[in-house]
Amino acid sequence: MTIKTWSRVIALADMNAFFASVEQVDNPDLMGKPIGITNSLTGTCIITSSYEARAFGVCTGMRVKEAKRLCPGFIQIAANPVLYAKVSTRIMDSLQDISPDIEIFSVDEAFIDLTRCKKVWDTTPEVIGMMIKQKVFSVSKVKCSVGISGDKSTAKWAAKSMKPDGLTIIPPWEAATKLRDVAVTELCGVNIGIGAFLAKHGAFTCGDVARLPISILGQRFGNPGKRIWYMCQGKDPDKVQTNIKLPKSVGHGKVMPPNTTAKDTIYMYLIHMTEKVTQRLRKNSLTAQCFYIGLKTKHGWLGRKFKIAFPSNSSKPIIELCKIVIYRYWHGEGIYQVQLTALDPREEKGQIDLFEYDDTKDHQLNKALDNINKRYGEFTLAPANLLNRSVMPNVIAPAWRPHGHRQTIQDVNLEKRESGK
Ligand SMILES: [Mg+2]
Repeated sequence: MTIKTWSRVIALADMNAFFASVEQVDNPDLMGKPIGITNSLTGTCIITSSYEARAFGVCTGMRVKEAKRLCPGFIQIAANPVLYAKVSTRIMDSLQDISPDIEIFSVDEAFIDLTRCKKVWDTTPEVIGMMIKQKVFSVSKVKCSVGISGDKSTAKWAAKSMKPDGLTIIPPWEAATKLRDVAVTELCGVNIGIGAFLAKHGAFTCGDVARLPISILGQRFGNPGKRIWYMCQGKDPDKVQTNIKLPKSVGHGKVMPPNTTAKDTIYMYLIHMTEKVTQRLRKNSLTAQCFYIGLKTKHGWLGRKFKIAFPSNSSKPIIELCKIVIYRYWHGEGIYQVQLTALDPREEKGQIDLFEYDDTKDHQLNKALDNINKRYGEFTLAPANLLNRSVMPNVIAPAWRPHGHRQTIQDVNLEKRESGK
């Protein structure tokens, strides 16, 4: 039966042991050998390993020492994230030949929505699956597991159910039955916490969850909770997030008290803009490597474009740039406005951050910070130098508030202008 009879056709391609497979392709001597990737050769923790190593019980997160004990021929390989990103890009580009509707889910996983291509590929899901696998293999020599169903969650579960080099097809009308006895925590995105909550309500399998009223999940977890209820029945409503248009730039600027010459105040405004820009980058899973920082004087803008060593969405490297602007480009001129813009932002390559250990710490900190701010309001937590920000008009006051409350209105307008961006 061709995919014409399916209302939606969604495939998930998952590269097998991606980083290890790329290394084996890159160096044929490693083919068929038990290898494990670590962050440089001094790394002690295994990021991923080849299937040959996995056969000995080696797994992600394991210490190299333990891996060598379990698997005598174990070979440690230093991670080469640039190579993995290159191969990943090649794979993702090639999948566009099958359907333009692709969601790059991670460095080694992509959803392919074939619903709009049903007429073009008037064939069986088995043929589609083989086509995807061949496509990936032809451009990368890496094998992948493919799951095909009528929704994202079931397709993902299907892909996971047969590894490596698997192809699992679950027609949409069979999904609910197939999932009935599957533990709900096996579905992507259903973590132990949600599992524990459902267990308290006597629901362990997808079938159990389907029997609960949807409101139990909705009340506890909101819309994501409702989504789980549908996922359990093979009716995940989530769309393949295609054509995510990247913004050309992410910037924030702010008008300053006219003719500000206090270094600390200018610095504080720049840090404030840094926090705003980086938070917005993180919120949209973007990073940037080039930043424009400018200070507006009576005669025009002072400042320039900077390129940092690695794409980032943390404030730390950008604050360093702000310092450079203040110490090298500013010579005491009166400032009227500050501007900070992240140029050419790119999608954050989540898994590649694994290699930047220092960055990971930053990343976790930023994540925690963003979550807290999301819950309690912007700048509940912020760098110490911004703690005065909420009273910024007071800080500014002596310098530019000659007329008492009139300027307070001005402050409100400034805030409005800023928040309207
Ligand atoms: Mg994978």
